[in-house]
Amino acid sequence: PPDVTLLGRSSWTLLHSITATYPVSPTPSLQRETATFLSTFAKLYPCWHCASDFQAWMKEDRNAPRVSSREEFGQWMCEAHNAVNIKLGKKEFDCKRWEERWRTGWKD
Ligand code: FAD
Repeated sequence: PPDVTLLGRSSWTLLHSITATYPVSPTPSLQRETATFLSTFAKLYPCWHCASDFQAWMKEDRNAPRVSSREEFGQWMCEAHNAVNIKLGKKEFDCKRWEERWRTGWKD
């Protein structure tokens, strides 16, 4: 089975990179496809306990995917990642800085 740590690091890189290149104003059909992608991703993620916790997190009303703009989607993904950070006892990431980390680059 895949190494959960390496798999996780690679997966977050992919997911945050997707939000960083997501359109500022996505079409309604892309928004629907993105929501479908996220639920399929959560189902297929090749770490079963990770996948099942992530699906449960996404099913809570307040955590429903927000895909109406790059900014919303990037924030949502940061919150999703923070939910896992908290679960694992890691430090929370400041979501005001997601774009700096994943799109525009740190200034310092
Ligand atoms: P990672 O958490 O992989 O983060 C990589 C980089 O992203 C960090 O160095 C930082 O620069 C940046 N970053 C950190 N937090 C944020 C944020 N909130 N927003 C934006 N950028 C951020 N592992 C388990 O052991 N158990 C689980 O149940 C589990 N569930 C997971 C569920 C999913 C959907 C995914 C994708 C991964 C899951 N993982 C799980 C893996 C775990 O989240 C980490 O990827 C892994 O522990 C490696 O951690 P890391 O310290 O290298 O940094």
